[in-house]
Amino acid sequence: MLISIVAPCYNEEDVIGSFHDQVQKVAEELLPLGHDMEFVYVDDGSRDRTLDVLQHLSGLDPRVRYLSFSRNFGKEAALIAGLRHAKGDSVIVMDADLQHPPELIGRMVELHHEGYDQVIARRTRTGDRLTRTLTARLYYRIVNRLVDVELVDGVGDFRLLSRRVVDAVLELTEYNRFSKGLFAWVGFPSTTLDYENAAREAGHSSWSFRSLLNYGIDGLLSFNNRPLRAALHLGMALLVCALAYTAWIVGAALINGVQTPGYVTIITAVTGVAGVQMIMLGVIGEYTGRIYYEVKRRPHFLVKATNVDRSRDLVSTDVVSMDPVSKDLVP
Ligand code: UDP
Ligand code: MG
Repeated sequence: MLISIVAPCYNEEDVIGSFHDQVQKVAEELLPLGHDMEFVYVDDGSRDRTLDVLQHLSGLDPRVRYLSFSRNFGKEAALIAGLRHAKGDSVIVMDADLQHPPELIGRMVELHHEGYDQVIARRTRTGDRLTRTLTARLYYRIVNRLVDVELVDGVGDFRLLSRRVVDAVLELTEYNRFSKGLFAWVGFPSTTLDYENAAREAGHSSWSFRSLLNYGIDGLLSFNNRPLRAALHLGMALLVCALAYTAWIVGAALINGVQTPGYVTIITAVTGVAGVQMIMLGVIGEYTGRIYYEVKRRPHFLVKATNVDRSRDLVSTDVVSMDPVSKDLVP
């Protein structure tokens, strides 16, 4: 049984070495149980020396395979690249910053052997700021009303996937990837496993408030057209209110005669309706934007250096660009 570890790395020069040490220790523990391990590291266009460290690691350890992107394509792209090149019978996806404790791998593999296709690690929110915890809770409550798949708080990309789940995920070739939802969409027998939230070992989290907000919007819009439906409902509710109010005003005018005041009403109505229209337009725009990206059929990533056999990719739309660093391309 071969287990692949897939880890996206973006500016992780300080931590990737100790990450590799730790997973390698786990690999040693699993070896007597009949599990081989390989490591697929995807350098997502880091600006630091991550690629050098990966090349160094691959020189020391033949089980290390790496891909390095021509620029930062985002974690989702790194994940798909890693999954595509993982050869394992099962694949463990985890962050390279040691926030996903490698000690859990043993237990995940056990659970996989008990028959689960997806073993999902769920982090507890201990140590998180209260505001973040509350926003997350509220967000998941709203999102789960709006999307078909069940999204769970604390569940991220730390999970073990069986080969058939990996193949299923790779069949989903959409450009806008929200893997948390994609994994949930795929289904198959799944189980969760809790772990304590750990602080980052080194480096910085690349999440800003804005990227979190955008990630949240992606989660809402990636799966179905329910937000469009919600916009429609909101519009209808507004129309009903407006008609009722109009009837009331006309009634009042008929009974009491025409009265001119109404400045506040007009301003409120105009700004309110304009705001709602903007939101609706935004929702429609988001969907159109997604269609726009999908029809372009651009590759998810471009590789500038790697030691993996890229023939798997030749059928796909992803492009290898050769440069001096790619000389170590293994046929
Ligand atoms: N990552 C990546 N590309 C990016 C941003 C992040 O490959 O553009 C990787 C990063 O190296 C790490 C993982 O994705 O292994 C999670 O990133 P981060 O720690 O910044 O996110 P957080 O843990 O705060 O959710
Ligand atoms: Mg992290």
